[in-house]
Amino acid sequence: MQERYEHKIIEEKWQKVWGDEKAFKVTEDKTKKKYYVLEMFPYPSGKIHMGHVRNYSIGDVAARFLSMKGHNVFHPMGWDSFGMPAENAAIQHNTHPAKWTYENISHMKTQLKRLGLAYDWDREIATCTPEYYRWNQWLFLKFYEKGLAYQKQSAVNWCPQCVTVLANEQVEGGLCWRCDSSVEQKNLKDNRLCRRASGLLR
Ligand SMILES: [Zn+2]
Repeated sequence: MQERYEHKIIEEKWQKVWGDEKAFKVTEDKTKKKYYVLEMFPYPSGKIHMGHVRNYSIGDVAARFLSMKGHNVFHPMGWDSFGMPAENAAIQHNTHPAKWTYENISHMKTQLKRLGLAYDWDREIATCTPEYYRWNQWLFLKFYEKGLAYQKQSAVNWCPQCVTVLANEQVEGGLCWRCDSSVEQKNLKDNRLCRRASGLLR
């Protein structure tokens, strides 16, 4: 037996075996107890950081433990890639949001795979794809039709230079965190779920 844990040799070998055998593929099986493990979908900002490693390792331990106990474990991974942050980053890097987003997803996926996490990659989703958000929007419209969602004018932080809405944490001392312009208040139409609908989704 080797004294040292040769992580490169051992992990690459077993990750290849898991990949070739689709060891974490999940199929519906009514004879087993179901378990759904979802840590969260990362926002594809560019690189996996240690916060991700901590979070996804904990979920991975839970998923593997429950699999070994005989549960049918669904442990998916996806990307929280829709909307404002991708647009802002694209402006900052002077590139198209789709190019920026998909390149980051590809890089971060390679990094997650290298960690050997037990995901069924066949179930991967990205929230910026029409295949995903069409259902999100469909669901929201159904809520709206049934009176469980409403539209409302509300004041938001607006940067006239970036031409974007800013979250409260993106406003520092009344200035835009990116370009230091004075942030204005602007009334925008906002879509919201009623409290009753939020309860139904939980
Ligand atoms: Zn700005």
